[in-house]
Amino acid sequence: MANAWKKYSDTKVVFDFTEGYKDFISTCKTERECVRKSIEIAKAHGFKDINYYIDGKIKLKPNDKVYYDNMGKSLALFIIGSEPIEKGMTILGAHVDSPRLDLKQHPLYEDKEIALLDTHYYGGIKPYQWVTLPMALHGVVCKKDGTKVEVVIGEDDNDPVVGISDLLIHLAKDQMGKKGSNVVEGEDLNVTVGSLPLSSEEKEAVKANVLKLLKDKYDIEDDDFISSEIEVVPSGKARDYGLDRSMVMGYGQDDRVCAYTSLMAMFEVDNPAKTLACLLVDKEEIGSVGATGMHSKFFENIVAELIWLKEGYNDIKLRRALTNSKMLSSDVSAAYDPNYPSVNEMKNTAFFGNGLVINKYTGSRGKSGSNDANAEYIAEIRNAFDKHEVSWQTSELGRVDQGGGGTIAYIMANYGMDVIDSGVAVQNMHAPWEVTSKVDIFEAKQGYVAFLKEM
Ligand code: MN
Ligand code: MN
Repeated sequence: MANAWKKYSDTKVVFDFTEGYKDFISTCKTERECVRKSIEIAKAHGFKDINYYIDGKIKLKPNDKVYYDNMGKSLALFIIGSEPIEKGMTILGAHVDSPRLDLKQHPLYEDKEIALLDTHYYGGIKPYQWVTLPMALHGVVCKKDGTKVEVVIGEDDNDPVVGISDLLIHLAKDQMGKKGSNVVEGEDLNVTVGSLPLSSEEKEAVKANVLKLLKDKYDIEDDDFISSEIEVVPSGKARDYGLDRSMVMGYGQDDRVCAYTSLMAMFEVDNPAKTLACLLVDKEEIGSVGATGMHSKFFENIVAELIWLKEGYNDIKLRRALTNSKMLSSDVSAAYDPNYPSVNEMKNTAFFGNGLVINKYTGSRGKSGSNDANAEYIAEIRNAFDKHEVSWQTSELGRVDQGGGGTIAYIMANYGMDVIDSGVAVQNMHAPWEVTSKVDIFEAKQGYVAFLKEM
């Protein structure tokens, strides 16, 4: 293993690539925003909505580029190969949902002339990390008349921000004695949004004033929160991290760092033999459930459509296409943290600057819940990366029995295809501000290109 930075006599290519990434994660802070932006970028690279073909009058042909937008929350992109799809696809998969706080269905209330929004956190968080920070509201409000209102408050320099209070140290004697998991309780992650009473109101005048602001600006009422999805996320842009600017600090890098690099890799390949796919999915952080998560049949269904549109459908072609596929399940790994070395076993740890990370297995307590990739497949992957001079490393998530985690790998492996976990190492994973190495981001993109070209 060598530091990947040393490969580059001119590091400009690395820094230039990560500028695009920083822009992406600065504006795309929800799964919906990621999908919308990814479609915009894909269209600029010649991708067409699959619905353009779906009536079957126009056949799909090799090198056609199509995408399928699943409810605006997950996305599948394809470059059609010259070989029959039943020979198998080469698939990159990442997730675009990230830990955050979701507003409840009845969020707004007033307590002693302070207006607050009640939340239910999404994904695995340490609640104490999410207090006393400038926060923004991103999401949609769907009204009964069918209109959808997009909300982004707290990102523009002229916007106000919101946030969650924490106890002053002077009165925190009881709190400081608590276990870390209870220092801040999930139910107490309430977002302060106002303190100015509406002069015409007697009761709950501060809440009334917040409602008036929402009515004036967005034409939404208190009841419209029932059919809304509003996410409370850290406010502000991704920034260069380190005096040498070698790293990125930003929100939601798990797993948008793999989503962005996978998407970009798709634009560097033309006229493939195998059909190439890039999946950007939702709900990974809560078990890949629901219509937009990887457990949904949406991917299988859309592959059936592709076969029908290219070659004429039958079920065995679909089964073969899925089983014969090869996939990189791209998700972040834990980067070595000099402040907390004890959680790692140093021979099998991911380090900043050492490139794309391969995890043979994830899971916990004896690999439970893991997709354990086949050695034969890992040999193929090594060969592809080395041929393209990609910097890569292997790791596992911490020492044995220290903890663990999972990804979408095992779900796709259910089809009988070869899948391995790969991704970018992250410090502060699931914290409001996560950190990655710029050269690792670039090597990930290079690795994904190598995979698409060689598999
Ligand atoms: Mn992840
Ligand atoms: Mn995660």
